[in-house]
Amino acid sequence: MKKWICGMVALAFLCLSGCSVHTQKTVFAMDTVMDLQVWGKDSEAAQQKLAVLIEETENTWSAMDRNSIVGRLNAGGAVVSQDAHDFLQRAEELSKRTKGAFDPRLGGYIRAWGFYDGAYRVPEEAALQQAPVQWDLGGAVKGYTGQQAVQLLETLRVDRAILNLGGNIQTYGEKKDHSPWVIGIQNPDGGNYLGTVSVVGTMAVVTSGDYQRFFEKDGTRYHHILDPETGRPAQSGLRSVTVICADGLTADVFSTALFVMGLEKASDFWRQSEDFEAVFVTDTGKIYATQGAALSGCEYEVIAR
Ligand code: ADP
Ligand code: MG
Repeated sequence: MKKWICGMVALAFLCLSGCSVHTQKTVFAMDTVMDLQVWGKDSEAAQQKLAVLIEETENTWSAMDRNSIVGRLNAGGAVVSQDAHDFLQRAEELSKRTKGAFDPRLGGYIRAWGFYDGAYRVPEEAALQQAPVQWDLGGAVKGYTGQQAVQLLETLRVDRAILNLGGNIQTYGEKKDHSPWVIGIQNPDGGNYLGTVSVVGTMAVVTSGDYQRFFEKDGTRYHHILDPETGRPAQSGLRSVTVICADGLTADVFSTALFVMGLEKASDFWRQSEDFEAVFVTDTGKIYATQGAALSGCEYEVIAR
């Protein structure tokens, strides 16, 4: 008994002087549920700082807020901070890499479909033609937030973390036993996960799908990933694309862009790239994964270089 009490006291002392505490918190931001899990001596404080970062990033980049940077840019204003300038520049560079499949200026189309205010409608062709060119960073901001979170976690005394930023998974650090983080890929039809991907260390696993935001009218589903060439929901034969990448912003931009490209173009894009892997679910339910994607738990066809 005495030995046991001594053990408990020693453990408590160890914990006070640097035990890794696991804390979990759910926040609602960017129109989605986010789950923040952090391990570390000061995990609670780190989590609070993460929540503040998420809220600030949302306020800064919301396309619906006139006072956000996006709101002010769309009203003809200029970018004021270096951070904002850097984000916009990187979004532009990545957009160029995708040959415009990711277009950070299709806010006019998004508005025409009613995705901002929830007043969903199928716009006339004329309305799309006349839609103004407006900034919308909705396809990149969660990945950017993940990237900002990684920078913040690096400055804090955190051992490891896994953040679910509404379908954007950002891992930070290695698990205690050095086993990979195992991340479920959502089934576009709902229900259980389709399969899992394994990643080691700090990585982003980001999914874009037609099931995340959509409305139905006269039996047709209209989702929120638009083809910049038509201003209409991309009909590329895909239901979802998951991108696995060391950089959260790149992962987010590419998941949206690859969805627009469709399987064939996206596979070629991957063959020309070195910095990401991807998993595709087609509208016939077939699953494809690039050869480095470390997908398991389901049957799939490998996309080779
Ligand atoms: P989610 O935000 O659901 O995680 P995405 O990352 O794919 O999914 O982002 C979709 C959002 O990106 C849309 O709501 C819209 O704001 C914007 N968007 C839609 N189509 C495009 C596109 N082709 N290029 C850039 N942004 C897009
Ligand atoms: Mg995206």
